[in-house]
Amino acid sequence: MRVLVVEDEPTIAAQLADALGAAGYAVDVVGNGVDAHFQGDDESQPFDAVVLDLGLPQMDGLTVLKKWRAAGRTMPVLILTARDNWHEKVAGIDAGADDYLTKPFHMEELLARLRALIRRAGGHASAELVCGEVVLDTRHSRVTVAGLALTLTSHEYRVLDYLMHHPGKVVSRSDLIDHIYAQDFDRDSNTVEVFIARLRKKLPDGVIETVRGLGYRLVSP
Ligand code: CA
Repeated sequence: MRVLVVEDEPTIAAQLADALGAAGYAVDVVGNGVDAHFQGDDESQPFDAVVLDLGLPQMDGLTVLKKWRAAGRTMPVLILTARDNWHEKVAGIDAGADDYLTKPFHMEELLARLRALIRRAGGHASAELVCGEVVLDTRHSRVTVAGLALTLTSHEYRVLDYLMHHPGKVVSRSDLIDHIYAQDFDRDSNTVEVFIARLRKKLPDGVIETVRGLGYRLVSP
């Protein structure tokens, strides 16, 4: 899952990038409203969620959000608002925000809210994603097969996490690349095949199906 962080305070931006990275997300960070609007509006760079500070240089966060929604961009957006400014929360939700947090916030709460937004966007009610014997716990970025813990690299986890959020759907290699790497990462489409091959060795037979010429599909064998 790929998350855009829009925050102009460098310390908070770095803390967010670290915490989200540790939680298994690919993270892009921008520090002003103009760059944020450009990134979030680019359909070739799909984000699974956005953390959007409202007080931003160049273009304020509320304007950015309104422009995205007017252009039909539907990714979940969590806004960061100033303390004791309930007007800002109301305006943000009316502009299309899916959730908000007041600064200063606890990172654990932000992560929990983000997980909830991403799974609801995919139609999942539970924090645990289940496919046959495979269970992915989004709260702890952990995977088990028939109750036994699986050791995955961060990229293997990201691939499986994306597939588990889209069970039964054909996911192309380019979809996977867009959702497991941050933009400035050196992307190599062959590595996706490597991650899939490694995952197949660790998962029960037949869980990741190849759909010839189209991509991969997670199935419950
Ligand atoms: Ca700010």
